[in-house]
Amino acid sequence: MEATQTNNAKELVQNAWNKRPLIISGPCSAETEEQVIETATRLAKTGKIDMLRAGIWKPRTRPGMFEGIGAKGLPWLQRAKKLTGLPTTVEVATGKQVEDALTFDVDVLWIGARTTVNPFSVQEVADALRGVDVPVLIKNPINPDLELWTGAVERVAKAGIKQLGLIHRGFSSYGNTEYRNAPMWHLAIEMKRRNPGLMIINDPSHISGRRDILLDVAQKAIDLDFDGLMIESHIDPDKAWSDAKQQVTPERLAEMLDSIVWRKEDINSEEFHAAMEKMRQQINQLDDELLQILSQRMKVADKIGQYKKENNITILQTNRWNAILERAYAKGEKLGLSKEFITKYFDAVHMESISHQNKILNS
Ligand code: PEP
Ligand code: MN
Repeated sequence: MEATQTNNAKELVQNAWNKRPLIISGPCSAETEEQVIETATRLAKTGKIDMLRAGIWKPRTRPGMFEGIGAKGLPWLQRAKKLTGLPTTVEVATGKQVEDALTFDVDVLWIGARTTVNPFSVQEVADALRGVDVPVLIKNPINPDLELWTGAVERVAKAGIKQLGLIHRGFSSYGNTEYRNAPMWHLAIEMKRRNPGLMIINDPSHISGRRDILLDVAQKAIDLDFDGLMIESHIDPDKAWSDAKQQVTPERLAEMLDSIVWRKEDINSEEFHAAMEKMRQQINQLDDELLQILSQRMKVADKIGQYKKENNITILQTNRWNAILERAYAKGEKLGLSKEFITKYFDAVHMESISHQNKILNS
C-alpha cells in the first residue's frame, strides 16, 4: 500500500515536471498553517497550477525582517499536498535544510538567487543531495554572471542530480529602476542556448517586484519560449509577511494565466514552414550583405588609420564621433531604428574600427 502511494506520488511529480508550460505558484513565505492550506486549496481550485511553492527559510537582505517560519512549516506543505495533490517545492540553502525538506517529502528543491552566488553554499547543498533522487531548480545568481549560474548547475549535476532546471528571476542593480531585478533577457536566452537540455522557467514576481507589470513580464517569457512560470500568490497579498507588493491572489493569478497568449515554438504546417524558410533565407542574405559592408567599412577605417599614422594624429577624434552618432540617430529614427539600438550598434562598430586602427598605428 505504502509503496503504491510512493509510486503515485513520484508519478505526480514527474507529470508536473514534464508538463509545459509548468506553472508553479504559492506564497513567498509559508506564514501559518491556515494560510498555506487556503492558498493551496484556492490555487488547486483554479485547475491551472502544477506545483505549490512556499518559502520556509527566507534569506532576507536586512536582519529583523521575517526570516521564514522554519522547519515547522514543512508539515503544513505536506498536508497541503495531501489535500490538493499538488507536488511541493521549497528553497534550500544549507545541507540541514535539504535534509529537513526531504524528511517532509518536499518534491522539488530550488536554490535561491542569494545562494547561487556563493559556491561554498551551493557545494554544501550539492553534497547533501548526493545519492538523492529529487529534481532541483536553480535560480540565477543576483549578479549578472552566467559562469556562476553554470557553476551551480555543474555542482548539483556532479552530485548526481539528474533532473535539473533553471529559474530566471532577474539581476539586482543599484538604485531604483522599473524592475526590482532587471530581467536582462539576453542572459537568460544565452543560458538557454548553452543548456539545451535544461528547462528554464521564468519568475515574473521577483523580476517585477510589483503587481502591475507581472503579466507583461510573464507574457514576454512565454514569447521567448520559456518552459514555465513561477509566480507568487497569497490569500491576502497586502498582508503578506514578505514580498507583499508583488503577490496576487490565486484567483487573480488564474485571470492572468488566462490572458496570456500561449505561443508554440513550432507547428506542423508545411505552408508555415515554407513561408518561414523563405523569410529566414532573406534574413541570411541580408546578414551576409551587412557583413560584407562592415568589412568594407573596416577597410576604409584601415586606410584612415594609415593616414593618421603618417600625419601622427590620434585615433579618437571626439567631434567626428559625435557627428557620426547624431547623423545616425536622425537617419535611424526615420528608418524605425531605436536610439538605444543605434548607440549599441555604433559603439560596437566604433570599437572594432579603433582596434583595427590601433594595430595599424602601432605596427
Ligand atoms: C523567493 O522565491 O521567494 C526568493 C527568495 O527568491 P530569490 O531567490 O529569487 O530572491
Ligand atoms: Mn519572494
